[in-house]
Amino acid sequence: MTSEPALRVIMRRLREIMSEPGDGQARLDKIVKQIAGVMVAEVCSIYLKRQDGSLELFATEGLKISAVHNTRMNRGEGLVGRSAELNITINEPEASSHPAFSYRPETGEDIYHSLLAVPVQRSGQVLGVLVVQNRTPKEYSDEDVEVLQATAMVVAEHIVSGAVAGAGTAIELSKSMSSVIDGEAISDGIALGHVVLHEPRIVVERLMAEDTDEDMERLGTAIAALRTHLDEMFDHEHLSAAGEHHDVLEAYRMFAHDKGWERRLRESVNGGLTAEAAVERVQNSTRARMLRQNDAYWRERQRDLDDLSDRLLRILAGRITSADEPSSLPSDAILVARTMGPAELLDYDRKRLRGLVVEDGSAQSHVAIVAKALGIAAVGQARGVVERVSAGDAAIVDAITGEVHLRPSSDVISAYSDKVRFLARRQRQYRALRDVPALTTDGERVSLHINAGLLVDMPHLKQSGADGVGLYRTELLFMLSNTLPKLERQVESYRAVVARADGKPVIFRTLDIGGDKILHYLRQPAEENPAMGWRAVRMGLDRPALLRTQIRALLRAAAGAELRVMIPMVSEAVEMDAVRALVDKERGILLAKGYESPKRVQLGAMIEVPGLLFELDALMKRSDFVSVGSNDLMQFLFAADRTNARVGSRYDPLSPAPLRALKALVKAAKKHNVPLTLCGEMAGRPIEALALIGLGFRSLSMSPASIGPVKTMILSTHAGRVSAHLETLLRKSAPNIRESLNNFAKSESIEV
Ligand code: PEP
Ligand code: MG
Repeated sequence: MTSEPALRVIMRRLREIMSEPGDGQARLDKIVKQIAGVMVAEVCSIYLKRQDGSLELFATEGLKISAVHNTRMNRGEGLVGRSAELNITINEPEASSHPAFSYRPETGEDIYHSLLAVPVQRSGQVLGVLVVQNRTPKEYSDEDVEVLQATAMVVAEHIVSGAVAGAGTAIELSKSMSSVIDGEAISDGIALGHVVLHEPRIVVERLMAEDTDEDMERLGTAIAALRTHLDEMFDHEHLSAAGEHHDVLEAYRMFAHDKGWERRLRESVNGGLTAEAAVERVQNSTRARMLRQNDAYWRERQRDLDDLSDRLLRILAGRITSADEPSSLPSDAILVARTMGPAELLDYDRKRLRGLVVEDGSAQSHVAIVAKALGIAAVGQARGVVERVSAGDAAIVDAITGEVHLRPSSDVISAYSDKVRFLARRQRQYRALRDVPALTTDGERVSLHINAGLLVDMPHLKQSGADGVGLYRTELLFMLSNTLPKLERQVESYRAVVARADGKPVIFRTLDIGGDKILHYLRQPAEENPAMGWRAVRMGLDRPALLRTQIRALLRAAAGAELRVMIPMVSEAVEMDAVRALVDKERGILLAKGYESPKRVQLGAMIEVPGLLFELDALMKRSDFVSVGSNDLMQFLFAADRTNARVGSRYDPLSPAPLRALKALVKAAKKHNVPLTLCGEMAGRPIEALALIGLGFRSLSMSPASIGPVKTMILSTHAGRVSAHLETLLRKSAPNIRESLNNFAKSESIEV
């Protein structure tokens, strides 16, 4: 036998086995059969280590099947135990005459002479032993040893991932090892702490009520307790600041007070079910209805309902008392859950919570919004995490990369402790720059603004020391709401934004819905190519009622002050005329009704559609300011969908075509004396912001976290020299502008 083909064959068969349906045990059974066949061994067995250190026969080809799960070797017992204990390969032609041999009659192994045992291990930790045996006494070849060792490695991987061996031992084993789970960061931050498993849901055992009246009364009392408890919890000090989470929690509270829900619960009890069974039944039937609605909004609503039903079940079981109960949480709790609703998170003592890991959940999920409001680092989409942890395990939540480190080694812990200290130091440095104006070394002032979309973003304006809000994405309020936000609700929301800006300018962008931003309550036709479809100002002009209400709300919110309104996805300069006419009309109506008007209204166009580049004069004449939406502009310039991972980052904005386009914009804005900003992601990346400064941009808008790094870059930059360098690169159509700029930054000691 040569090792190459045998190994390849085994690997292929392992892959096939892993891709076939079947439980862990069935897979192990197939694996030993395949190894025996390919290695021409009469026996192939796998022993797995139990928590007490003993080894259990988990699967075999060749030994008696009745021995599986019945034969156990004590720690270090026999050749198999020795292989595990010393983490060594044992190759014995005459196993039975070895002094360490331990004979197990129940296996029927007395007829086999030679034995090859290799440890199944990962990261130096032995999980079990893989053994082959033959009747003829022989020493296994080096190739045989290599094949079995390589196979054992792959089996170890599958054990750790939980794909083989099924419930029980192997999973228990994998629970003692360090591992990393890749998820998605849903609330920024890094947290080190210890795992608290979110309480699993209560299993309903008694279905039929013995005394319907009594169950009806229990149900009534539990619903009342649920409502009081939610009211107590939502009014808690940590949540008192206004923000998007308020809308989420209000929607949740409304769910709890929903008359239809209560009626269905009572009907079920009337029908003979216990209060608990009624909760489960109503939950199941509502879930079935909601699942038919295949969109994110309904999935979130369903999570709220599950959360509410679980909470009611816990109350019925006497397991929820008051929000003020003394906490049994560790002081550095990392909460791990399959799924979690926003209210469930609030059940925990905020002061002791460091991080959250959920198996589902996206950045837009309600629990993520609440985690952000509370400042808890959270990772979602952490598949299989619940199976792989035990309460009390050490864990690190890296909600920057989306990784969760379970039972990290001391090296990883110390690397992360350094990272947390480093981030804190960087943050302190950035904070120290807060009131330092963003001036280049040759005295050019660059104004820096933040992008925002929710009230919770507004405190960042002060914290970052930014000059204003360069892009306020108003659609987020609409996306979080259950129904189209009415005029008064909008006025209130925009007014709160203006108040929180505390005199600094805010640019409100009118609704940019359509495309992938769907409002479930608004009828929108399905489109083949939604990014280029009926969205933003196109919808605004075709459905003026929507845009007019928004403009009216903005005008009222900015009474007596200056109002800046920006229009997304302008495709032709004349669209600005139509919007201006609409604004003027609304202003007239408000004045006629006796409302105070803003002191001044400035109307700006977003430059996102490449066509505008060819009518810049006309556009500038019609705009009080312009702002480049580089996210969209790049996707349309390169015809590369920004949401498609395959092509989204295929083209570099730091290449000649887009840079020339941006340069033309700077020139036109200067010529017409129209303020120009760029508010796409480019502005927040220091190297790209450096290029923008080189092109002549003096105003940028970015996520609040980017203000510190971009300001640090500006403070170490000589704008004149970057400009000259970039000019040369563009003239030569240099092939790798990003690399050249990075080299330039290095040579000039610019911090990018
Ligand atoms: C842009 O397109 O660059 C932009 C800022 O708008 P959004 O990312 O919201 O489309
Ligand atoms: Mg855009």
